[in-house]
Amino acid sequence: MNKRIMITGGAGFLGSHLCERLLREPGEVLCVDNFYTGRKQNIAHLMGDHRFEVMRHDVTFPLYVEVDQIYNLACPASPIHYQFDPVQTTKTSVHGAINMLGLAKRVKARILQASTSEVYGDPEVHPQHEGYWGKVNPIGVRSCYDEGKRCAETLFFDYWRQHHLQIKVVRIFNTYGPRMRPDDGRVVSNFIVQALKGEDISIYGEGLQTRSFCYVDDLIDAMVRMMKSPDGFTGPVNIGNPTEFTMLALAEEILRQTNSASRLVHRPLPEDDPRQRRPDISLAQKSLGWSPRVSLEDGLKETIAYFRTLIFG
Ligand code: NAD
Ligand code: UDP
Ligand code: UDP
Repeated sequence: MNKRIMITGGAGFLGSHLCERLLREPGEVLCVDNFYTGRKQNIAHLMGDHRFEVMRHDVTFPLYVEVDQIYNLACPASPIHYQFDPVQTTKTSVHGAINMLGLAKRVKARILQASTSEVYGDPEVHPQHEGYWGKVNPIGVRSCYDEGKRCAETLFFDYWRQHHLQIKVVRIFNTYGPRMRPDDGRVVSNFIVQALKGEDISIYGEGLQTRSFCYVDDLIDAMVRMMKSPDGFTGPVNIGNPTEFTMLALAEEILRQTNSASRLVHRPLPEDDPRQRRPDISLAQKSLGWSPRVSLEDGLKETIAYFRTLIFG
């Protein structure tokens, strides 16, 4: 029988790539989204496929559908978006997880949670491995996201221990690629849009903080592998690209690729901004047979081409 796969947050950046990827295999795909940060344009090209269905729904409310697999991605991911309505962000992570876990329990579906490297907070262990418990401020401006995602992980593991659900938890590190919003506020989209428009490049703080950027196709490949992994393998498993850069180095590479004359200007560092971040991906390599393949240079080329078309037509 064809699998019925539900993706919450399916109209967002990652969700839309996941919908597209899953439609390449047999089965039906149900995209559930309240369009808080997601957009219909992201999935418009899939609407002609009779195996694809879209439902406008907020996951903080119960949902009764019959499905075999659930990818739970619903949650704003960019700091400016998740801090815009922080109470709603926590509700989406926590109430959303409870509802989707309740649904998975009723229909005996396998359920995957899109968790985040933010569960490690401003890490004291570098690179971050899954056994590290993190250093998170529970009352700061990022807490609605970080603690919401941490509580969602707790719920996943309690439904696994208490109700024997088949859970899969991936901790996603910074991911970029086509379909990020130009006004999303995340660093890759900000720098590319600024460089293409000849505007100043906004470096927060000294620009010496680091991140490790994974191209979207690599990330989606890992998520699908995780969903298909053996029953007993729950994770959490880190998914990301371990090549680490400072924000200054990222800006230089984007300026080089866009041939832009934009200047680098320094802006205040946001509160609780993690100083360094790099995944230890040995568990993903061993358990999923996965490693990222796309270099930052190649991934940026695709992403810049996307934004060029979006901005200049
Ligand atoms: P995004 O903002 O593009 O996508 C989130 C989607 O969830 C949007 O389509 C939005 O409309 C939807 N949504 C938000 N609240 C909802 C609600 N209450 N009910 C239904 N839908 C809701 O962000 P993204 O980058 O695609 O992130 C997807 C998931 O991956 C998120 O859970 C995020 O925390 C996680 N993640 C992403 C990254 C990254 O670098 N992109 C890193 C770590 C974790
Ligand atoms: N739920 C849902 N869809 C379902 C089943 C449950 O949205 O198909 C929601 C329901 O609102 C419930 C939550 O998931 O409050 C948790 O369900 P669970 O069965 O774990 O707990 P209970 O129903 O006892 O609260
Ligand atoms: N950043 C920056 N300029 C920007 C946007 C972000 O220097 O215009 C920095 C930000 O301070 C952080 C890093 O880039 O150190 C990554 O930020 P992003 O919002 O993309 O993701 P997150 O902080 O959640 O990793």
